[in-house]
Amino acid sequence: MPLPPRPRSSPPQERSADANGRTSRQETRPSNVILLIPDGFGPASAALAREYLRHQGQASQLALDPFQVGSVRTRAADHRITDSAAAATAYATGTKTNNGHIATAPDGTTLPTLLETAQQRGMATGLVATSRITHATPAAFSAHTPARDREDVIARQQIEQDIDVMLGGGRRHFLPATHDEGGRKDKENLIEEARRRGYRIAQTASDLNGSGARPLLGLFSNDHMAYELDRANTAQPSLARMTDAALNLLSTREDGFFLMVEGSRIDHAAHDNDPATQLHETLAFDRAVRTVLNNTSSDTLVVAVADHETGGLTLGRTQDGQTASTWYPDVFDGVSASSSALFTVLSESRSPNHGTPFVHGIDEWIANATGLTDLTATETRSLADASHPRDVAALLNRRAQIGWTTNGHTATDVHLYARGPGAHCFLGHHDNTSVGTMLLDLLGPDHKVHPAPSPPYQTRA
Ligand SMILES: [Zn+2]
Repeated sequence: MPLPPRPRSSPPQERSADANGRTSRQETRPSNVILLIPDGFGPASAALAREYLRHQGQASQLALDPFQVGSVRTRAADHRITDSAAAATAYATGTKTNNGHIATAPDGTTLPTLLETAQQRGMATGLVATSRITHATPAAFSAHTPARDREDVIARQQIEQDIDVMLGGGRRHFLPATHDEGGRKDKENLIEEARRRGYRIAQTASDLNGSGARPLLGLFSNDHMAYELDRANTAQPSLARMTDAALNLLSTREDGFFLMVEGSRIDHAAHDNDPATQLHETLAFDRAVRTVLNNTSSDTLVVAVADHETGGLTLGRTQDGQTASTWYPDVFDGVSASSSALFTVLSESRSPNHGTPFVHGIDEWIANATGLTDLTATETRSLADASHPRDVAALLNRRAQIGWTTNGHTATDVHLYARGPGAHCFLGHHDNTSVGTMLLDLLGPDHKVHPAPSPPYQTRA
């Protein structure tokens, strides 16, 4: 059955009450929906990045700050602390599921996603991420499997989904194991398959130049894309550049578009308890947000929300028996590489094939990479003995007087932001599934298909 026509540019209407005083969201249908997901971004991540911008005199707030409308509870069906798969499934489908599940219910049933719903309405669709595009968050919008690590299966489903724009990392899941970069045991070459289906293929930032045409598959790295701090030595585009390219390609569709943009590696930096890398991942996400806000019209709903907090980041810590009355954003001024990249150099320097024991030049080297020119003997020794990127990051955390409680995720609530038609629906505190349900209601052909979320996880103005 054909879907009813949808007005494109009529102004959004206010909510109206029916005879029983209930309000309907049916009339505030946006022409386009953009969902921005900063993976692992908690309230302290926002405070850290904002305070750093202020310290640098660059800005007084993050791009999303004026649009903060509430907070979100993130738990999964089977754990109070969610993983990215269950969390993204909540946003993509409005359904609570178990950790590890990609757009499938706890019993394995396939759940229709926002992206599929948008396609049924004739909308163009796009996914942008800095992780492998087959990783949990983008996967939950474009594939169905109860096991998030089946990324070869996810890649095939994504190619068959006819998504208009897919940009991110993860070439290894699209190429056969016989290929230099490939990892697929089934010998399929999904990049060739994508070409056969009419996709334009991009592999470097410069491939995004020019107008081009849909559909576009951009796979810019074999694994995850480089951290923003380490990106200068690569040919990879920034998250903002990918977002801009996706908006250019999608906004020409008469029937509107759905786009999901993930700042994927805020989470990875937090798993390493690496504050400078998380800061720069957040700032890269912030630039992508500015790209979205500056290039979308008033008929576009923009919602931003993290899937969960990672690391238990806090600004201020007890150190050497002293409680802190400040923390020091200036510690990050001179950092020019991720702790992960620094640890790789340290590890290689300790290999038997390496000429000089690296520890003798460690002070000068760390000064170059971090701007810290006054290492104590204890700090030099701890770097020389580092057995994980976290041991390198620990130097920055102590200097900046900031702390982390875990190497994993936490159950901390996350900020919720919204702008555009229907944004008022997101006011208050929500369960993560309510966010997905409201997005489906706003975007879908018939809001009765997806019942409104129920209290107590929702506060309405
Ligand atoms: Zn996550």
